[in-house]
Formats: sequence, structure tokens, C-alpha cells
Amino acid sequence: LVRSVLKKRQVPLQLGRMCYSSSVPTTKLFIDGKFVESKTSEWIDIHNPATNEVIGRVPKATQEEMLAAVDSCSRAYTTWSETSILTRQQVFLRYQQLIKDNIKELARLITLEQGKTLADAEGDVFRGLQVVEHACSITSLVLGETLPSITKDMDTYTYRLPIGVCAGIAPFNFPAMIPLWMFPMGMVCGNTYLLKPSERVPGCTMLLAKLLQDSGAPDGTLNIIHGQHAAVNFICDHPAIKAISFVGSNQAGEYIYERGSKNGKRVQSNMGAKNHGVVMPDANKENTLNQLVGAAFGAAGQRCMALSTAVLVGEAKNWLPELVERAKNLRVNAGDQPGADVGPLISPQARDRVNSLIKSGVDEGAKLLLDGRNVKVKGYENGNFVGPTIISNVKPDMTCYKEEIFGPVLIVLEADSLDEAIEIVNRNPYGNGTAIFTTNGATARKYSHEVDVGQIGVNVPIPVPLPMFSFTGSRGSFRGDTNFYGKQGIQFYTQIKTITSQWKAEDATLKSPAVTMPT
Ligand code: NAD
Repeated sequence: LVRSVLKKRQVPLQLGRMCYSSSVPTTKLFIDGKFVESKTSEWIDIHNPATNEVIGRVPKATQEEMLAAVDSCSRAYTTWSETSILTRQQVFLRYQQLIKDNIKELARLITLEQGKTLADAEGDVFRGLQVVEHACSITSLVLGETLPSITKDMDTYTYRLPIGVCAGIAPFNFPAMIPLWMFPMGMVCGNTYLLKPSERVPGCTMLLAKLLQDSGAPDGTLNIIHGQHAAVNFICDHPAIKAISFVGSNQAGEYIYERGSKNGKRVQSNMGAKNHGVVMPDANKENTLNQLVGAAFGAAGQRCMALSTAVLVGEAKNWLPELVERAKNLRVNAGDQPGADVGPLISPQARDRVNSLIKSGVDEGAKLLLDGRNVKVKGYENGNFVGPTIISNVKPDMTCYKEEIFGPVLIVLEADSLDEAIEIVNRNPYGNGTAIFTTNGATARKYSHEVDVGQIGVNVPIPVPLPMFSFTGSRGSFRGDTNFYGKQGIQFYTQIKTITSQWKAEDATLKSPAVTMPT
């Protein structure tokens, strides 16, 4: 199966270190059940972030191709939306098995294009797989409501029905998990789906599409286009598209929310973050330091839920030297190398941006306790590596605090009390995630209650909810009113029809017109 997909993408199986010059493999579009070569003249290079070798090209789909994709979604919708719910459930039951069977290959493609370590890439697939498993519960999730006998012989009940063609626009940092937040939930509800993966990491998504097809999803139920701004604008503007799920930066997310909403579409927009880990002096030190280091530097800090900002309360500030020691021990290497803890950043531009944010911290008076800017990785000298970096004495008005760094950089603030820590967190415009480390239940309760952030971990550094709940980032990290997956995801991808019906016995039939408002 994997060989057949790669053959279609013209990707040799041993991509590892190969260097392509003129004839790099191309990523196909997926239109109406076929993997097709784009006729475009505009292509974007795909790089291996550990080497910066060009390993493929992704097309900017033409207007005709994008129209063909959305037309295919519209045609497929007429039959897919009427397919029995058990049939749709069966497709996703088969799909979850195929994802499990191919997890290693999916992870390999992620590491190749995105850079994260293989173990972390498997986690990326696994967290997406959990959403597919959740989608298999559709027969319970989509149940309507009934109220019998609201008056004599009259009952009211609701159906949850699909809304039409839905679309997803995905970021680079979770090439499997985030597309899997999108189309399985949309499709299992009876919608058809147009997906635009990140142009930087399309390979894993294309294999996911092939696996979905092999699970029995009919042609046209999922279409995939590639590109950047033109593809995004097309999705925001096309009248057949009824809803848009976006995950990515604030710059793109605010724009897509506004443009899509103006065009009358539902939009859910998950965006950037600055997640604070508040460390109380009564916390379990060993556990807390390990959690902090893992959550700040894992995936090279390129997670929207990375714990990028530590707030050390009171005596906890004395733990800084030990924090630095642990971070120093992490091994920076290409993601496919055994023992790698921290892989490369996605691009040279991302590396330069992270390095300049580190410099800004120093220039603005913070203290650089661990500097990863000049890290050298043997055999991967051209990779986009930044080693674990820790900056202390950071103040809220510094650039490195105000901006999402999205790299392996932990910035550290200090607070004298829990109240002061809460104030810091609540003054920050983002509301994606936060964690408190403490052994005191009352402290944890007060923090969870008073902090204005959508996802809170108590001794849990990355509190991404499992899909029976929803991903509930808030404030500057989210636009829209209905979140991804869980009950909210079902709500986003369905509309409600309410039926009030009366079946009177023959002898109770009205004898004259009822002209007053029925009560
Ligand atoms: P990005 O915004 O650059 O790209 C996301 C998607 O939007 C891509 O498909 C891209 O083609 C498109 N895009 C990029 N710039 C655009 C623009 N100006 N106008 C219209 N479309 C545009 O994001 P990224 O760099 O791929 O991902 C990293 C960001 O995503 C970080 O800010 C991270 O916090 C965020 N993120 C958030 C969550 C969450 O659930 N809150 C999850 C993962 C990532």
C-alpha cells in the first residue's frame, strides 16, 4: 500500500539523505478519487529541515483545479449525506485500523518533511488517530433530542444533519494530528471535505488520504488542494463551502476568520499561544523540572501547547540551575537519528527568527542562562538547529515575552505570590494553555478557577484534552464559538432540524380554523 502511494507521488522509498536537483518528486492533488499531477507552473519546494535538501515540490493548484475539487465535493455530498450512518461509521472503523497499520510510515514522512523525532512523529499520528476513533462513536454523538407530549398528541424531536461541503486549512507543526482533527469529524457527520494541508509538509496527509480511500470513502468525499494565499482565499470565498476549520498563526487565522465569516461561513480558528507554567515552591521538584523541560523543548518548541514560559513563584526561583542542567542534557539531532530529543526547526527563516528573539531578550536586559544559537550537529551542518535555550529575568514588556517564539526557548519570569502569577497569565493576550505545578489542592483549585485560559493542567504540562472533550483554547488563541472535536466538533459540523408533529385520533380532528398563536 505504502509503496503504491509513494509510487504515485514518485517518491523513492529510501528518501533519507538523497539530494534532488532538477527532478524532485511532485506532490499530487487528490481530486474526485484520483491522485493527479497539477498543471500549474508555480511550485513550492519541500525541504528536509535536518539537511535543507530539496526533497519534493508541492503545486500551487490552479483555479480550474480548485474548482474541480470543490465541484467533486458538491457532487459527492448529495449521496454521502444520505448514506446510512452505520456505513459512514464502518468507513472510519476501517480507517483507524489502516492508520495503526501504517503508523511507522506516516511517522517517517512527518520526520522527513517536518523534522520532529520519529518517536514524537508517532505521537503526532497517535493523537490524530484518537480523533478518528472518537469519530467512530458517531452513532451516539449525533443523537438528537426528543420531548414527547408537549401538548396533546404532539411530540417534538431534533435531527443533527450535515451542513454541506466543509474545508480545512492546516499548519506545518502536526502534519497528521491536525488534518485528522478536521476531515474525519466533518465527514463522519455526512459532510464532504476539501483540505488544504500546509504546503511545507504535505506527504503524510497524502498518505492519510490514500488510506481513507482504501477504507472505502467514496470518490469526492475528500478532495485535497495545495497552495498558499490563493488557495486560502478560494476556500474563504467559494459559496459551496459552508464551514472552515483553520489551525495556524494569528496572522492567517484572524484573516481567514474575518474573510470566511463575511462570506457567511462558519469558521473555527485555532491560533498562536504563549503558555505559562506556574511553579509553586511546594511542587514535587523532580517531577516538575522534568515536565517543564519536556514541554518546553519537545518538538523543538514547535507546539501550540509548548510550555514556553515558566513563572517561578517564591523559592522556586532557586531551581533554575537544575533546570538548566536538565535542558543541557537533551540531545539535539536529526529526527531520524537514534536518541534524538530535539530536532531541527522547520526552515532557516524560522531558525533566524528564533535566534533574533533570543538576541532581543539579551538586548532588552534578560539573562541568557543557556544559549542554543550556535549548536552544531555532526553530519547535519546545514540543518535548522537551535539547541535548548533558557532566558531568565524576563519582564512582560520584553519582545521575547510578547511574541510567540515557536522554538526551543524557555523564558522565565518570577513572581512573589500565586496572585501575582495569576495576574501575569491573565494579562497575556493568549489563552491556549497553562499549567500549575503544586502539591496543594487549594492552590491548584484557586489557579484553575481564576486563570483566564482555555486549557489548564494541574501537574500536567501539556493539557491537550482527549477527543471526548474539545480543544478549548480561548482569548487571543481562538476565534469562533465552537471548538474542535468532542461534542463541540459535532456541533460545528452539523445543523439542527426540529420537527414538531401531531397525530390526532380521528375523533379529535379540529372542527374550525385555529387563528390564534398556538400555545
Ligand atoms: P501559518 O499560519 O503560517 O500556516 C497555516 C496555514 O495557513 C497554512 O496552510 C498556510 O498555507 C496558510 N497561511 C499562512 N500564512 C497565511 C496568510 N498570511 N494568509 C492566509 N493563509 C496563510 O502557521 P504555521 O506556521 O504553519 O503553524 C504554526 C502556528 O500554528 C503557530 O502560531 C502555532 O501556535 C499555531 N498552532 C495552533 C494550534 C492550536 O490548536 N491553537 C495548533 C497548532 C499550531
